[in-house]
Amino acid sequence: MVATILVGMLCAHLLCFAVMFLLISKRLHGKKMGMDAFAVGNFLLSLAYVLQLLEGGVSWSPMSVLNHTLTLASPVAYWIGGMRFFGYSVPLLRPLFAFAAAYSVAQFMVHSTLGPVARYAMLSGFAALMFLCMTAAVIYGARTFAKDLRSEMIFFAVLISGICVLNALKFVKLLDNGLDALQMDRNFQLVFYVYMSFLATVLPPSMVWLVLRRLNDELRGLAARDPLTRLLNRRGLSEAVQLYFNVHKSQHAHVLIVDVDHFKRINDAHGHQIGDAVLCDVAEVLQASARRGDLVSRLGGEEFVVVSLGTDDSGAIQLAERLRAAVEQQTIKIPGADEPLRCTVTIGVSHRLANQSALEDSLRQADVALYRGKTAGRNRVESFQHADGSELGPSVRSSMATQPEAIA
Ligand code: GH3
Ligand code: MG
Ligand code: MG
Repeated sequence: MVATILVGMLCAHLLCFAVMFLLISKRLHGKKMGMDAFAVGNFLLSLAYVLQLLEGGVSWSPMSVLNHTLTLASPVAYWIGGMRFFGYSVPLLRPLFAFAAAYSVAQFMVHSTLGPVARYAMLSGFAALMFLCMTAAVIYGARTFAKDLRSEMIFFAVLISGICVLNALKFVKLLDNGLDALQMDRNFQLVFYVYMSFLATVLPPSMVWLVLRRLNDELRGLAARDPLTRLLNRRGLSEAVQLYFNVHKSQHAHVLIVDVDHFKRINDAHGHQIGDAVLCDVAEVLQASARRGDLVSRLGGEEFVVVSLGTDDSGAIQLAERLRAAVEQQTIKIPGADEPLRCTVTIGVSHRLANQSALEDSLRQADVALYRGKTAGRNRVESFQHADGSELGPSVRSSMATQPEAIA
């Protein structure tokens, strides 16, 4: 009786959350994050339990065959939902139908050759195996592709391993005691259904939490990035600098403002669209030429800011010179034009800064140095000078390239 009530409640839970997953997936439009597959998984499992309640006990009937097939098809749907959540585009219905057909045939074969106990043992054995694979995949995910959701993944692994163990125990009990082990009022069956009810209560809100976390992370990412070049924007840069100084309290950084020379001429000569392509190209060159960990951003227009982290004064100037030379050497192919386009940049370098609140001052310093570079002929690196004329380091002076003007 208690087990029957538990199974009834389990059905209600699964169905409610199936509807909720479906509603969420409708709201997510193009990117459903696997919510539709989770809804199908819940729906299949709840249908399996409805059939079990209708059946009343152990039997050999089309309803029982369908029940076993649905019970095992639901973890397949959850598996597909998990893959979709992590961005893999996996079909849902075809694998589900293929699995259902194959497992139904397997049931007929096992029942007719090995008998009913073997068919029920096959269900528990397969379920244990599937949940074992799922646990292993979730642990693997926590260490690799889902590092950002590590604690959530470990929580899932613990919950899923529980259902794996219970199915493995059921498998052993079936082999030991035969179909008697499946009597609904047996203690083991009670524990099994209590645990299933617990999972049906805890897992769905946790999945909703994962979706919310991912959406939140995506929004934060969008708010911190420049839409044209995908580099950090001012807000993203400021947050990243703050994060750096939170972790590296006694370190220094330098701000480099990189401004494309005569960019207006490029726009005027080739159009705004080619201008955009040039900006993306310069962004790529800066990203590729900066050191790993340096922050590359676009604050607006044709102006980029690179924050060189953990360098001394001469290191910052060397980096600036490397960036300048890399842009100068870059050729940009324009559709329909015989000659590739080239452009140059002028770079202003600030004094070192030791905390995030100095960022605005450093930007101003780099801007002053940039202005000097522009008036001195462009395509050069200039460092900020104090009123007394002192520059960054004793051995570092501003550098100038062989080609003084940008070629548009
Ligand atoms: P200088 O060497 O002194 O820096 O000259 P400049 O022509 O690069 O600088 P100026 O400030 O005169 O012109 C910058 C131009 O950049 C003007 C503006 O139309 C263009 N611009 C700003 N934002 C964008 C953008 O997102 N895309 C494109 N294609 N052009 C932009
Ligand atoms: Mg410019
Ligand atoms: Mg400018």
